[in-house]
Amino acid sequence: MQADTKRFLDPNIPDEMAASIRPHTLSDFIGHDALKQNLSVFINGAKSRGEAMDHVLLYGPPGLGKTTLAHIVANELGTNFRATSAPMLTKQGDLAAILTALEPMDVLFIDEIHRLPTAIEEVLYSAMEDFKLDIMLGEGPSAKSVRIDLPPFTLVGATTRTGLLSNPLRDRFGIDLRLSFYSPDDLARIIVRSANILGTPIDADAALTLACSARGTPRIANRLLKRARDFAGALGRSDISPETIKTTLFQLHIDGRGLDEIDREYMTTIVRHYAGGPVGIENLAAALSEPADTIEDVIEPYLMQLGFVQRTPRGRVITDAGYQHLGLEK
Ligand code: ADP
Repeated sequence: MQADTKRFLDPNIPDEMAASIRPHTLSDFIGHDALKQNLSVFINGAKSRGEAMDHVLLYGPPGLGKTTLAHIVANELGTNFRATSAPMLTKQGDLAAILTALEPMDVLFIDEIHRLPTAIEEVLYSAMEDFKLDIMLGEGPSAKSVRIDLPPFTLVGATTRTGLLSNPLRDRFGIDLRLSFYSPDDLARIIVRSANILGTPIDADAALTLACSARGTPRIANRLLKRARDFAGALGRSDISPETIKTTLFQLHIDGRGLDEIDREYMTTIVRHYAGGPVGIENLAAALSEPADTIEDVIEPYLMQLGFVQRTPRGRVITDAGYQHLGLEK
C-alpha cells in the first residue's frame, strides 16, 4: 500500500470524514478537563443571563481541537456557528459582510486570527467591544465614515501563535484558553471513541500504542486510526489488533515516539549540516525546502515537547536526547 508518509503527519491537511467523528458536546470532548469545566461555567452563565458569551481566544498547535471547541461552544449555547479564516478576509468589506449577517448571540469563528491584516483587525475592535461596525463608505474626499449597530455575538478566535497577536486585539478577548498536547491515555480514549463511531473495534493495547505515536494530537490519532482500519481490511480483519498497529506504523515510517520522515530529516539536517546547531530558522527552511511557518507550527512544537530540540536565541539545537533518539553520536 502506498502512502505519502512525508506529509502524513501534517495536521494542516484536512481530514476525510472529520464531521462524523468530531465531538459535538463538551462531554464528548475528551481530555482538558479544567478547560472544559471553566468553559461550561462561562456558557451556562451567558445562557442564564440571556447574553452573548464573552469573546474566546483559543491557542495551541494545529489539530488539538480549536475548531471543534468553537463548534461545541455554539452548540452548547444553542446558537448558529459561522466560520471564516483570516487569510480569506482581504478587505474590510469581507469582514463587514460577515458581521452584518450575524444573528443575535451567534458564534463567529475566525481561524488563524494572527494573520488578519491590520486594517481589518481595526474593524474588529469596535465590533468586539461595542457591537458597532465602523466602516468607510466611498473613496477620496467624498468618503464618509458610518457606524452600524451589530447584534451581540461571540467571537471565537483560534491561533497557533499568540506571540503574533497584537495587544489591542488580544485584550478584547475576555476568555483565553490554551490547548496543549494530549496525554497518550486521553488520545487512546479519543481513538476508541472514533473507532466505535467508524464501526471498527480496536483493542485497548492497540489504541494505546497508536496513541503513543500520535504526537499528542487528536487529528493525527484519528488519521492513524483510519489508516490502521485500511491495513486491518487488507489483512482480512474486521477489528484492529496490536499487530495491525505495528504494521501500520511500520508502513507509514512512524516511530514509537510519533516521529515521521520529515521530523527525522529535520533533526538529521541540523546534525549533519550544522553540527547539531545552532541554526537559524531561515537556513533550515531553505535546507529542508519547507516554509518556515510549517517548521515552527507543525514540526518543532512536538520535537520541543519531547526535548529533542531546543530553540535558543542563536537558533535551533539538537539536544542529547535528540541525538540518542536518532542513534547518532554527538
Ligand atoms: P484545530 O482546529 O485545533 O486544528 P480540530 O478542532 O479541527 O483542530 O480537531 C481535529 C480533529 O481532532 C477533529 O476532527 C476532532 O474529531 C478531533 N478532536 C480534537 N480534539 C478532540 C477531543 N478533545 N476529543 C475528541 N476528538 C477531538
